[in-house]
Amino acid sequence: MNSGARDPAGDDRAARERIREIGIDEARAIVAGGGAWLDVREREEVVAGAIADAVWIARGLLELNADRSLPDKTRPVVVYCAAGRRSLLAALTLRELGYERVYSLAGGLDAWKRAGQPVVSLAGGDPVFAPRYHRHLLIDEIGERGQRALSASRVLLIGLGGLGSPAALYLCAAGVGHLGLVDDDIVDESNLQRQVIHDTTTVGLKKVESARLALRRLNPLVEVTAHAERFDETNAMRLLSQYDLVVDGCDNFTTRYLVNDACVLAGKPNFYGSVFRFDGQVSVFCAPGGPCYRCLHPEPPPLGASPACAEVGVLGVLPGIIGTLQAAEVIKWIVGAKESLVGRLLVVDALATVFRTIGIERSPTCPACGDAPTIRDLRATNAAACGAR
Ligand SMILES: [Zn+2]
Repeated sequence: MNSGARDPAGDDRAARERIREIGIDEARAIVAGGGAWLDVREREEVVAGAIADAVWIARGLLELNADRSLPDKTRPVVVYCAAGRRSLLAALTLRELGYERVYSLAGGLDAWKRAGQPVVSLAGGDPVFAPRYHRHLLIDEIGERGQRALSASRVLLIGLGGLGSPAALYLCAAGVGHLGLVDDDIVDESNLQRQVIHDTTTVGLKKVESARLALRRLNPLVEVTAHAERFDETNAMRLLSQYDLVVDGCDNFTTRYLVNDACVLAGKPNFYGSVFRFDGQVSVFCAPGGPCYRCLHPEPPPLGASPACAEVGVLGVLPGIIGTLQAAEVIKWIVGAKESLVGRLLVVDALATVFRTIGIERSPTCPACGDAPTIRDLRATNAAACGAR
């Protein structure tokens, strides 16, 4: 694709020279013979109605997601959009990505519908979200309004380990519209005792890829973006800027302080969880008027002083409990539930089976969110205090 000044008409011409536009009968025959439908429209359009069994990748995410959704580049692909123009350009992109047999449906879904061809609502009819979200629609606090809010929300999960696994699964099942996954690690067999989004078949894959496969199987209505990078001071603000809120599923103090400070600076709530042996904690930090993590613990422990800086044991199910509580807080936040863990730290003792909450307040002397903060950018986060993961 050319950069700089664009000539849309020229783009169309170039695409038409290389991509064959086909009619409905030929398209159906290609798919019947083993080809795939690819819908490249935006999610709102797709939810309203699409061709049955179509693979959906929004046009803007094609380069990023084509490999995973359409791994066989020799399989014929019939691309469609609403009227046939975006699909033509998308088809050209696929060709450039190495797909061998790519076609564009002339006239798009409009022509398809005019010809009386069937369209399915991916969410299962009208009202839009039934039946997948039926049990949410029955709850007054969620209902269709809350479900639409979930669908419109964008959540960044930092870490796809023990906490991120259940959080991602439940947020995906709940219909959060867009999940961003940040992790640079790969799935190891020793992870599977607690990191339930991964499984034996994905050992060796990047965690964000493994998680994305699982989430796609669970709920294809949810858009998932994999950021296969380590969350650090160079990418933190860029990543946060693309999302409404953050789920902290990290496993080390370096990242935890960085997540906190970035959330304070960006003004985004931080759904915090942590686990150690049989003990877990959950809270919501960086909410308007509420405390941040540094209000509790102003500075990281010195290098090597904290057991969490080294490899420690954890009861496998405990991150399941804590990560699920983080997801519950996220969902309540998005739908506007009155009660939350803002201003409270939930402490879980899984050995004694005791849950208790401790009131916490914003500290006026907090270096991050206090009245005279000293942390004004991420270079000042003191993030190197605990180097180990
Ligand atoms: Zn604070």
